[in-house]
Amino acid sequence: MTPQTATLDANYIGGAWQTSKTSTPLDIINPATGELVAQVGLAGPADADAAVAAALAAYPAWRRTPPQNRIQYLFRFRELLLARAKDIARLTTQENGKTFAEAYAELQRGIENVEVACGIPTLMQGYNLEDVSSGIDEIMIRQPLGVTVAITPFNFPSMIPLWFLPYAIATGNTFILKPSERVPLTARLIFELLHESGLPAGVCNLVVGGKPVVDTFLHHPDVRAISFVGSTPVAKYIYAEGSLHGKRVQCQGGAKNYVVVMPDADLEMTAKIVNDSAFGCAGQRCLAVSVAVAVGDVAKKFKEAVVDMASNIRTGNGLEEGVQMGPVITADSKSRILNLVDKGLQDGGKVLLDGRKVAGDVGNFIAPTILSGIAASNPLTSTEIFGPVLTVNESNTLDDAIELLSRSSFGNSAAIFTSSGAAARKFRYEVQAGNIGVNIGVAAPMAYFPFSGWRDSFMGVLHGQGKDAIEFYTDKKVVIERWPKEWSRKF
Ligand code: NAD
Repeated sequence: MTPQTATLDANYIGGAWQTSKTSTPLDIINPATGELVAQVGLAGPADADAAVAAALAAYPAWRRTPPQNRIQYLFRFRELLLARAKDIARLTTQENGKTFAEAYAELQRGIENVEVACGIPTLMQGYNLEDVSSGIDEIMIRQPLGVTVAITPFNFPSMIPLWFLPYAIATGNTFILKPSERVPLTARLIFELLHESGLPAGVCNLVVGGKPVVDTFLHHPDVRAISFVGSTPVAKYIYAEGSLHGKRVQCQGGAKNYVVVMPDADLEMTAKIVNDSAFGCAGQRCLAVSVAVAVGDVAKKFKEAVVDMASNIRTGNGLEEGVQMGPVITADSKSRILNLVDKGLQDGGKVLLDGRKVAGDVGNFIAPTILSGIAASNPLTSTEIFGPVLTVNESNTLDDAIELLSRSSFGNSAAIFTSSGAAARKFRYEVQAGNIGVNIGVAAPMAYFPFSGWRDSFMGVLHGQGKDAIEFYTDKKVVIERWPKEWSRKF
């Protein structure tokens, strides 16, 4: 994309692009080059109110649109997403920093959710039973809620909005997306495609803003449901505030993911997968492995293998051929990560691979960094790093490793590498995390499974994606009917 000087209208409300009512400009900076990608108008509460009004106005007609007609827009939307996939991915790389291949891959995972939501005429069906008592039938019907909102993070600008949008509208709700204000351009392009699909005005709306916009949605009486993905402190705030104001809320929070490497693991495969997991998307993935626990005598060989592979990862601008890892999102993020590394080293940690200085660096680059000997009490072990830093710990037994994992307050994901079915089963059975990998480094559920997450990584009952999404976006109505035979005789 050529740098834009004019401020882009980033709010799509009631089927039209609208200038922010606050007229506060927001610069979108390429994290790899430091260059201005575009400037957008940051929305405020008045824009958020306008989006809710548009979504509310569109709701009655959309709800009455038969499900098989509603999904025709999604079929068209899917075709448009596929046709413009490279443009979307390029924009994601420019505003987020991840490589083009990573941006392209995340979009495909998002499109899978559009495909699953196209099954809504079947997925949304209720159930019934005749003669629950003599001559009395009982029917469960699912109905949409009304106006729904999703608030999404910077790290998956195309995929995460698509965890929610397709299900929300396929089930007959209207929808507002508030993307991360750090990456609004991907969402903007996706909404251009929604517009092109012919979706009726007001069914999907886009508002690019920060906390004031979120607070407007949290307190608005016409918003029925809120989905959130982002850091745990904000997830906790949104869960508490949204629930207090009578909304159905699901909040996916931050993470601290462990992998356990058993002595019987296939070392080459394990080192490769752990590398991909730790350094893919520059570690800015809620499923990224952050701590590897090597069990027994595998530690030395595992460290050598993982360092060897990580030292060959090419860091740079994600639009350049051959680049395997991009920068982190902002300069603040970079210094926060480097401070955490410093704290770990001051506490007796050792550097196995030092990526803190990247030559010729103009962007927010940190190359793969691997540390060992970090105490369990150190912030590097206990907090989410969200950068390309892996720490390797050691334990004597699988029990000790599982005990170490259980000390984390997060429960997004955990993985084990082993060739023992018994060890894998024990791990799967005992570990307190919602997404488990067995010889898998990024245990990302497919669109037809819930994106789970436990403890501080999730607040709510129903997760995103799959059947949980249908449950989340619908209310169950139970009808109990009696039609006495005598009444029929009158006609
Ligand atoms: P973030 O919490 O800073 O922001 C997420 C969203 O909340 C953004 O839209 C932002 O505008 C809004 N927001 C930020 N501060 C707010 C506040 N005080 N009040 C109201 N709204 C606010 O998260 P981020 O930095 O964009 O994303 C990274 C985080 O997201 C990491 O912690 C990562 O683990 C998490 N994440 C979790 C999952 C998951 O599935 N559990 C997936 C992706 C990312």
